[in-house]
Amino acid sequence: MAGMSETDISSLFPEEIAALPVMEGQGAFRSKQIFEWLHAHRVGSFEEMTNLPAALRGKLAESAYISLPEKVRVQESATDGTRKYLLKMHDGELVESVFMKYKHGNTVCISSQVGCRMGCKFCASTVDGLSRSLAASEMTGQIYTILKDTGERVSGIVVMGMGEPMDNYDNLIRFIRLISDERGYGLSRRSITVSTCGLVPEIKRFAEEGLPVTLAISLHAPNDEKRRLIMPIANRYSIAELMDACRFYFDKTGRRVTFEYSLISGQNDTDADAEELSVLAGSAGAHINLIPVNPVRENGMSAPDKDRVIGFQKKLEKNRINATIRRELGRDIDGACGQLRRRTLTGDFVC
Ligand code: SAH
Repeated sequence: MAGMSETDISSLFPEEIAALPVMEGQGAFRSKQIFEWLHAHRVGSFEEMTNLPAALRGKLAESAYISLPEKVRVQESATDGTRKYLLKMHDGELVESVFMKYKHGNTVCISSQVGCRMGCKFCASTVDGLSRSLAASEMTGQIYTILKDTGERVSGIVVMGMGEPMDNYDNLIRFIRLISDERGYGLSRRSITVSTCGLVPEIKRFAEEGLPVTLAISLHAPNDEKRRLIMPIANRYSIAELMDACRFYFDKTGRRVTFEYSLISGQNDTDADAEELSVLAGSAGAHINLIPVNPVRENGMSAPDKDRVIGFQKKLEKNRINATIRRELGRDIDGACGQLRRRTLTGDFVC
């Protein structure tokens, strides 16, 4: 376990590594080599950095640590190749990440926080509140541990696991810049999607970072009244303010936003809801991802039947709103956020 005084070197860019006391007197190329070891080769120890002088490796090991989460548990879907990981951080905290196979390539869904303080009623990640935010290295680390475990390539990242990424803003931005750095993993920024429950000031700030990533908004309701019943954040920002922020994002980045809409039986799934939602999506130029809600033991919500889901989609399409029903990858393995961790923490895990 890493000591508190040690440097989280996996969160640093080469220029920052070069400024560490331990690097004094070393040429700039050394810090680039270290960055490469960490993000291109993704080694787990300084010992493996074989082109560094042994003395430097020793000093690095004393003053810094490499942040690579440890695999605790994996559940593999019997049907679609989805692998859900429970990963342990250096202080013992647990997060979930998911490896998904799509026709266009493999995608990893990562967590941005341990727990969450947003309080959405349908979500398992928030039941015990927020434990802490993740460092940038703990976000890249989820991907690196999964790359190592699967031996497969990963071409897409979605920040849709546990936590609210905009509630961990600085580390989120650092993560995006780290994972897309050409000197390391070099993932295309266009293949990154960040999902938020709608922190309006952060969305606006995000629009101005010059990062061409896709923004997904967890909308889940067609008006403020219904949204407040399931998402506390709706008490802080109105849908009108949220739509403004979405338009701003589109204007600044040229990237269409996605609305995520979890269909909950009897709460947001009528044709009238679809009509209202169409107006919102039209005004923001958004397309919609429909997700039949994944039942979580704590909340007693259920998904509408298949006909209602398709009926809802048809209504949107009639209004010329592009809507897809999310392929429910990994439903047989507790696909929804936070479910695997909760079951493990409550000793309720069934293999
Ligand atoms: N905090 C961020 C990202 C994490 S959640 C956000 O709110 O967007 C990723 C998506 O899964 C969100 O749209 C979230 O609302 C949704 N989600 C959470 N629990 C769910 C459940 N039980 N069923 C369906 N979708 C769920």
